[in-house]
Amino acid sequence: MSDFEGLRALVTGGASGIGRATAELLAARGAQVAVLDLDPSTVDEPLLAYRADVTDDTSVRQAVAAAAAGLGGLDVLVNNAGIGARGTVEDNPDDEWHRVFDVNVLGMVRTARACLPHLRASAHAAIVNTCSVAATAGLPQRALYSATKGAVYSLTLAMAADHVREGIRVNCVNPGTVDTPWVGRLLDAADDPAAERAALEARQPTGRLVDAAEVAGAIAYLASPLSGATTGTALAVDGGMQGLRPRTV
Ligand code: NAD
Repeated sequence: MSDFEGLRALVTGGASGIGRATAELLAARGAQVAVLDLDPSTVDEPLLAYRADVTDDTSVRQAVAAAAAGLGGLDVLVNNAGIGARGTVEDNPDDEWHRVFDVNVLGMVRTARACLPHLRASAHAAIVNTCSVAATAGLPQRALYSATKGAVYSLTLAMAADHVREGIRVNCVNPGTVDTPWVGRLLDAADDPAAERAALEARQPTGRLVDAAEVAGAIAYLASPLSGATTGTALAVDGGMQGLRPRTV
């Protein structure tokens, strides 16, 4: 028996990038997986697909109820849907701060709230939030985005404390820059995409971007009973950004 066999997992933002790699990895290892996304039209079997907007509480509740019915219960929530934002505190007006917090923070709260009653019925319940190295690293031009991920980090710790005695583990992954369609869009918008990519690569001590499959591996570990004694932690998947000093020679 694989450690993933029989696990029933819901992955938000599972139609693209990190979420998609995670949904596919979990399914390949024997889990039953449902994807919740704004646009799940590209999601194929054996994955189940549900359309929902994490900023809309009713749509989240309906999609989670349908996914739990489709899977026959829920053991794992991968709270991953999120959007980016550039700039300093002077660059984004209040309504942009509200919009990004609504997706990146409240989106995870709404989804967790809808999933918790199902997770309580599981013998192997786990929530994994996709956070970011931006939560703790102090990256330039990322004030709003970093603040949302700082909130996700704190939320992870608080939820881990609240639900530990219910047998629900809560952890997060902190990726560096991951080669996903999102980063592709960022590069397309740059004046010099090749130079922007080289700068992003150079920021990571490994000298390359993180592969989405590498983040999926970390999420899968935290989602499975393999990490059964781990709760309230952040696992860095950042090519050494957080832990290593930049090379000087
Ligand atoms: P992506 O754009 O490739 O995929 C994001 C998915 O989320 C898309 O399928 C999109 O449709 C879905 N989504 C967006 N808003 C939604 C909403 N309101 N409701 C439902 N679904 C919605 O992005 P990605 O790079 O895979 O990022 C996924 C997560 O990883 C995000 O939380 C992001 O903050 C985090 N992250 C990404 C990187 C990176 O460098 N790519 C680094 C650190 C953390």
